[in-house]
Amino acid sequence: MSNLQQLDKTYVANTYARFPVEITHGKGSEVYDTNGKRYIDMGSGIGVTGFGIADDIWQKAVCDQLSKVQHMSNLYYTEPCAKLAELLCLRTGYKKVFFSNSGAEANECAIKVARKYIADRKGEEYNTIITLKNSFHGRTITTLAATGQDVFHKSFKPLTPGFVHAPAGELDAIKELTKQYKVAAIMIECVQGEGGVVSLDPDYVKDLAAFAKENDILLICDEVQTGNGRTGKLYGYMHYGITPDIVSTAKGLGGGLPLGATLLSEKVQYTLGYGDHGSTFGGNPVCCAGALSILERMDDHFLSEVEEKSRYIFRELQAAPGIESVSGLGLMIGIQTKAPAKEVLLKCMEKGVLCLTAKTKLRLLPALNIPMEVLQEAINVIKTVCAEMEETIC
Ligand SMILES: *Cc1c(COP(=O)(O)O)cnc(C)c1O
Repeated sequence: MSNLQQLDKTYVANTYARFPVEITHGKGSEVYDTNGKRYIDMGSGIGVTGFGIADDIWQKAVCDQLSKVQHMSNLYYTEPCAKLAELLCLRTGYKKVFFSNSGAEANECAIKVARKYIADRKGEEYNTIITLKNSFHGRTITTLAATGQDVFHKSFKPLTPGFVHAPAGELDAIKELTKQYKVAAIMIECVQGEGGVVSLDPDYVKDLAAFAKENDILLICDEVQTGNGRTGKLYGYMHYGITPDIVSTAKGLGGGLPLGATLLSEKVQYTLGYGDHGSTFGGNPVCCAGALSILERMDDHFLSEVEEKSRYIFRELQAAPGIESVSGLGLMIGIQTKAPAKEVLLKCMEKGVLCLTAKTKLRLLPALNIPMEVLQEAINVIKTVCAEMEETIC
């Protein structure tokens, strides 16, 4: 084991089973390790670096801001924060934005807003939030409670009370829960990312949104992973013809710097008042300047290219040898491989392609601007590996 790996294993908390690869630098969708080996990055830091590594325009925006002011408390105004909030609202129709630093925090804000909005109207006992089984909403004690997967819960109880889970796709189960509990909100991911890249059924989502509206229950979309162009639209809910009351996002928003945002619709825009919520780093000018440089470039043309690359991946991999099925939306792709996904991932890594997994699937979250020829190279490697591994199974 190298010195770096030894050092990391000795001093960094044991929460990550890292692969024995030391990445030193990169450009766009290509990264290099300490041995000078080149990899195509099909994970983009788990859907974070939407414009790839060290993108020129993003880098300039960040460095320019860094040389002006790197941080001010939220006691004062700074331009990138206000401009980013404006752009997010103009592009989505939402009315206000609360900035934080991560997906879990963006969800915490969404939960606080939902609880307060409903408490002010119906009473504090209406505090239950329904989320879906197999969902993922974060690692804090509250967002763990929201996460509908027992594996993440064990050893950390008691979790924050007030969360119940319904099987995805079954509206009747949600209706039943609203009879048993006094419900404030329903929170969903339009495409369950960590849960295996599973998109929710469009009719189910529409019916669920209508049901929530009729019953004065708020709808929250967790767009931490699906947001910021990942699915081929600016936000995943835009595929479904719904308007959630609250949208949370993070991952791709800052282009690689930590930034979370919670978008508030007209209905809930004044729910939080002075002192109700806050964050020391939230809305950091450097992170927001980076985010502006990302969001400004996500126009219809750019998003149509994301969809085109998505169609290419589906076309190439669906029904390819060693592959059972392909799921997902845009450049959020899950591949059910015949050989175990982890083994496919290792083989791809050996051949210079970095992939992710989600549950039993191989998962791809490439940079949204990955050049077509680099994407083709990576997909060819994945196809070859899946085909070869199918032969060894048989
Ligand atoms: C990654 C993720 C989170 C958690 O984000 P962090 O930035 O790690 O806190 C929450 N929800 C979804 C859907 C995610 O994919």
